[in-house]
This record gives sequence, structure tokens and C-alpha cells, in this order.
Amino acid sequence: MAQATSAATRAATRAYRTEVVRVQRLSEHFLRITVTGEDLVHFGPQQTAGQQVETLPAWDQRIKLFLPRADGSYPELGLFADPPASIMQWYTAWRQLDDTDRNPIRTYTVRAIRPQVPEVDIDFVIHTEADGSTGPAAGWAVEAAPGDELIVIGPDRRAEVPGGGIDFTPGSARHLLLAGDETAVPALCAILEALPADYTGHAYLEVPTADDVLGVETGSGVLVHWLPRDGAELGTRLTTAVQHWAQTRQQQSSQQPARDRESGQQLPEVDAEGILWETATPEGYGEYAWLAGEAGVITGLRRYLVKEVGLSREQVSFMGYWRQGRPGA
Ligand SMILES: Cc1cc2nc3c(=O)[nH]c(=O)nc-3n(C[C@H](O)[C@H](O)[C@H](O)COP(=O)(O)OP(=O)(O)OC[C@H]3O[C@@H](n4cnc5c(N)ncnc54)[C@H](O)[C@@H]3O)c2cc1C
Repeated sequence: MAQATSAATRAATRAYRTEVVRVQRLSEHFLRITVTGEDLVHFGPQQTAGQQVETLPAWDQRIKLFLPRADGSYPELGLFADPPASIMQWYTAWRQLDDTDRNPIRTYTVRAIRPQVPEVDIDFVIHTEADGSTGPAAGWAVEAAPGDELIVIGPDRRAEVPGGGIDFTPGSARHLLLAGDETAVPALCAILEALPADYTGHAYLEVPTADDVLGVETGSGVLVHWLPRDGAELGTRLTTAVQHWAQTRQQQSSQQPARDRESGQQLPEVDAEGILWETATPEGYGEYAWLAGEAGVITGLRRYLVKEVGLSREQVSFMGYWRQGRPGA
């Protein structure tokens, strides 16, 4: 006899069968896709099952998007079997598929969660290569229309097991440095909206053009700075802004010794194969930096903060969300 899954044994993430309900062009490079699906009432950070709220904080909640194959179909990976395939099982099965059978999978962030409707918003950056081509995810978003199917792997709010894809973990820190490019804008906006009043600091959001300055509200004391590139090289405006932040910080605390300095610390380079990623939960520190975006830019910023500014590695979370010239996963 089938056993009902208890909260204690429920996996932290699961697959959701969803359908596009709205497509909204937010700006030149941002497109919001809203999906619905009856099971999305369970979608949200773990341990929030009892909360009857219109919106759940999304923070930087990571999700996987299963995009359909060219003919609109999906391979059978056991995502909706009873019991469903574990991550290890479906991922192994997916890897073993022939190239022609394998559907694209990409990682995104949830921009908003409305469990009572139920709906989830996902904001896509529409990026285009010099030859006019784009990736499967951005291409799917541009073509998406109400009724289109999208499979989303995301958190199950009924699960007791925490840790399903939220990397914003400031620990004891209340003074923040948030920095990211356009791919991190959905996460940064959701974080800013969710932050309580006792957080202060600066958020720097580099976007392709002035039209992509979306605006965001925060109840926190964090000051928001939008940085349109408008033709400048990727990452330069963000890097300059972070350097300016560091100089101001240095001037303000010149009498304070750099107690967090880890001079001579060995930091890994961006390796030839992978995108670097490290999350920190600073306990006992007042400052926390969260950096996300193009891997080379973000790794450079992290190196600067740790090697030159003197922040501890324990204070800096950095996430390579994409890498120039390389497809995502
Ligand atoms: C945790 C996490 C959260 C993310 N959240 C979001 C999100 O909310 N919204 C979002 O839009 N992206 C987000 N990303 C980034 C997204 O996964 C990548 O941009 C992904 O490569 C897009 O897939 P694609 O199929 O469109 O292009 P791909 O097939 O992956 O890439 C094709 C080519 O396009 C380039 N490329 C990819 N993305 C960009 C870009 N933004 N600008 C310029 N060139 C690019 C690649 O380098 C490659 O050369 C997130 C990534 C991670 C890891």
C-alpha cells in the first residue's frame, strides 16, 4: 500500500508541471514569464508550509528549468513517477540520453512566489550573440505563449529539510554589499524586497542599458544603485562601483584595524572546466558580501574583496551564474 510522504521524509526539491499564464516584456533585455500549476501551492522555501500569505519571500531561490525539446516534448525521466526519481536518478538518466533526445536544462532564480493563486514569476535576460543567435532558455522565453508547458525543479515548502537552493545566508551580518549583473537582478530584487529594516549597505546592479533599470522597493536600509552599461564592457561598471564602495569603507573605518584580513590566502582561480561558486555564512562578522553574475567578473570581485580589501572568505558568497562563451546547465 502506498505510504503518504511525511514532511520529515519529503525531499527538499521536486518537479512541478507548470503552464505559462503571462508573458510580460519588462524592458529591452528582461522578460517576465509567469507560470501556474495546481501543485505550485506547495512551491516555496522549506518550512513555510503553514504560512497563509499572498507572497512568499523568494530570496535567491535557485530553480532548474526543464525546457522542452525542439518538437515540444520531454524525455521520460521519472520526475512525476510515484515515488519520483531522486535528483541523482533523473540527472544520471538525463546525462545518458543521446544528444538528440536530451532536452536543455538551465538554472534560474524565482522572482516571485504567490502560493495562493498559485503562480511563480521567472525573469529571463534576453541575450543575443553577435550572429543573432541565443541560448535555448532565452530563445524559449522569447517564443513563450500562454498554455506552453514548462517543468520546474524547485523547493517544496512542506519539506522539513532546509537547504534547497537559497545561497543568500548573511548569518550575523547586517551590513551588506550586494553586487551582480543582469542575470542576478531577479535574485537581487527578491533579496531586497525580502530584507527586514535592520539591514544596511549597498546593492549594485549592472544592467545592459538604461531601459533595463527596473526599480525595486526595499524595507531595509540598503541603498540601491543601478549601473547601466550602455556600451561599456561587461563588468566594468560593477567593478568600479565595488572599488568605490571599498574606498569609502576604508576611509570610514581607517582607525579600525583590518581584523578580517587574510593576507597571503590561497584562492582558487576560475578553473578551466567549472564555474566557481562558494557560499559563506558569516557568524561573528558585521559585513557580508553577496556577488553573482558572469563567472570571470564575479571571481575578480571576490579576489579583490578578500585579497585587497581584507574581507574574510567567510564573509563573501560568490556565484558564477553564467560564463561568457559557455552554455549553462
Ligand atoms: C543560480 C543561478 C540563477 C540564475 N538566475 C537567472 C535568472 O533569474 N535570470 C536569467 O536570465 N539568468 C539567470 N541565470 C543565468 C542563466 O542560467 C544563464 O544565463 C544561462 O546560460 C542562460 O541559458 P541560455 O540557454 O539562454 O543560454 P546558453 O545556451 O546557456 O548560452 C549560450 C551562449 O550565451 C551566453 N550567455 C548566457 N547567458 C548570457 C547572458 N545573460 N548575457 C550574455 N550572454 C549570455 C553563453 O556564454 C553562451 O555563449 C542564473 C544562473 C544561475 C547559476
